[in-house]
Amino acid sequence: MPKKLTPLEKANRKIKRVEARLSEAVEERAQLLRATLVKCENRFANNFNRPGLKACGKSSEIGKLTFIRLLHYVRPYGCTGGDYWQADEKDALFVCPHCGYTNRLYGEPDVLKLREYFAKTEDREMR
Ligand SMILES: [Zn+2]
Repeated sequence: MPKKLTPLEKANRKIKRVEARLSEAVEERAQLLRATLVKCENRFANNFNRPGLKACGKSSEIGKLTFIRLLHYVRPYGCTGGDYWQADEKDALFVCPHCGYTNRLYGEPDVLKLREYFAKTEDREMR
């Protein structure tokens, strides 16, 4: 006969079950978010591409792309201010795997929020 659980053991067991269900739901959501599609399109990205290169219009899942975070240098000011790199919260890049076109994510706040669901993040320093 199984031994009777103490109230503390019961509570611990309950927490374990809920935690398992929670991590299952978090993983399910992550999978869905990694499947978010972004389209390769001409979006003010001329300065990042070879002249004449055109976006192909195909879509890709963000979970297969590299999120290229843009870092802007903050010059030194005053006695102790500045001299550091700050990530751009409103813009980032990704390279289309179909055609190699570099796309900006400017104007895509919903996608910019999903950085952790991209395959990886790289930083690009902008001066
Ligand atoms: Zn493309």
